[in-house]
Amino acid sequence: MSKFLNISREYEQIRERNKEEQERRKLPLYNRFPRLKEIENEMIRISIDITRAIINKSQDSEALLEHLRKRHMDLKIERAEILSSNNYPIDYLEIRYQCKNCKDTGFINGDKCSCLVQKEIASLFQNSNLGEKTSEENFDQFRLDYYSDEKGENNYSPRDNMKDIYMKCIRFVQNFDNHNINLLIVGNPGLGKTFLCNSIAKDMLEQGKSVIYQVSSELIDLVRESKFSFDNEENNTSILNEIYNCDLLIIDDLGTELPTQFSSLVIYNILNKRLLNNKKLIISTNLNTDEIMKSYSERIYSRLFGDFNMFKFYGEDIRLKRHSI
Ligand SMILES: [Zn+2]
Repeated sequence: MSKFLNISREYEQIRERNKEEQERRKLPLYNRFPRLKEIENEMIRISIDITRAIINKSQDSEALLEHLRKRHMDLKIERAEILSSNNYPIDYLEIRYQCKNCKDTGFINGDKCSCLVQKEIASLFQNSNLGEKTSEENFDQFRLDYYSDEKGENNYSPRDNMKDIYMKCIRFVQNFDNHNINLLIVGNPGLGKTFLCNSIAKDMLEQGKSVIYQVSSELIDLVRESKFSFDNEENNTSILNEIYNCDLLIIDDLGTELPTQFSSLVIYNILNKRLLNNKKLIISTNLNTDEIMKSYSERIYSRLFGDFNMFKFYGEDIRLKRHSI
């Protein structure tokens, strides 16, 4: 089945579930307050009459329309009064959409909603597990107390350092549309780099941004397949297009890819195109600055050091603490 059909079926299912869920809320309430059911029935009748009055334009249709709209409003108010006087929120009987912007249709005035773009990315990159991962790894779950508060040089502890980085990451997310910052996150394994990247991804997704999260080696493989396999050209073009243009590209573990001419060219192209188009990037790596300079050509590292804010993680491996606490 084509990718598009799959996604449009997914929206259909979401809308069906919304409707069922709404019915489940309605039923017990309509039993308790039969007036609510009467109100709903009358509102449906009025909506039909309004449509009819608009179609059959006649001399007195204006007056009729006004009367119908007023009656509709009165019923809405009566319903809200019944609900609120019984301690229910006034929108209790409304459909609860997963995406309020497009009401789970995927489109807003014919344009793709950001939730649809994200679903397309998830299916192209098979990273739909981003949602699952981020349910456990997000800013709220971040534990500063895993980091030692033993002061080192400059009276600064790993915990102070993380606190500083954590606050900067929150600002990165909150002001996403108003800054031009890219992040280079460096440090040994086990210091929480991926955790923080996932936290940022989660917040960005909640803001309706398109996010691609790929481990460096997998990203290179994807580009290689997209460029050299001709099985599904439409898919391949979309993959490259999203890598260059999604709102945020997160490359995890830079340096774990095979160091070939091709991988170096891919990394350069991604950096160059995204920076030119003001598209933000976050890169995490276990390499230190010397190793970055040894592993990559000058045109790559000059961009990494020149166009990125560098966050250095240091301290002890926190993975053991995470499992023992
Ligand atoms: Zn939407």
